[in-house]
Amino acid sequence: MREATPERRRRLEEVLSRRQPDLTVLLENVHKPHNLSAILRTCDAVGVLEAHAVNPTGGVPTFNETSGGSHKWVYLRVHESVKEAFRYLKEQGFRVYATALREDARDFREVDYTKPVCVLLGAEKWGVSEEALALADGAIKIPMLGMVQSLNVSVAAAVILFEAQRQRLKAGLYDRPRLDPELYQKVLADWLRK
Ligand code: SAM
Repeated sequence: MREATPERRRRLEEVLSRRQPDLTVLLENVHKPHNLSAILRTCDAVGVLEAHAVNPTGGVPTFNETSGGSHKWVYLRVHESVKEAFRYLKEQGFRVYATALREDARDFREVDYTKPVCVLLGAEKWGVSEEALALADGAIKIPMLGMVQSLNVSVAAAVILFEAQRQRLKAGLYDRPRLDPELYQKVLADWLRK
């Protein structure tokens, strides 16, 4: 294995020190590789350490060039079912907000994203399932004022995650490492191998 140059190590450490272990997404049956890839690319840009998915691309996550290589730097944990994904996220202390185009969904900007938050995004055709909606802590939507009813799922993910980034920047959450030292060293060692 090639030894990382000091510059590369510094760059990896800089990025890792901005990772946010308490901000994530759960992708429910997001099947299209270009959507999955685009969402992971946004996750990388806002500092998501690990994303979650239920049944991506029929079970096996596949990425394409849309990811820009980001799938190397954002872990993707695949869960067998919605129930199992919620169990895991709840155990980690996340509040899960389901994106849904419903009357009673709150404007996504009303959420406090400086707290441990998971944004649940749904399938391209069907949206978030009733099962997942029932388990979520609330429903959020991006107001749509035009002719078309919904956004592309990767666009919706970006809009919401960059609001989370805005709030977290303001709160100083990117100013110091957020991972506990043991996890930080573990991830750094993994990244150095890539
Ligand atoms: N017919 C589906 C529905 O009624 O939910 C549309 C699904 S939309 C194309 C795919 C996913 O993108 C949604 O499940 C949601 O996660 C996200 N999405 C799209 N537009 C959104 C919006 N305006 N607000 C919140 N999420 C949105």
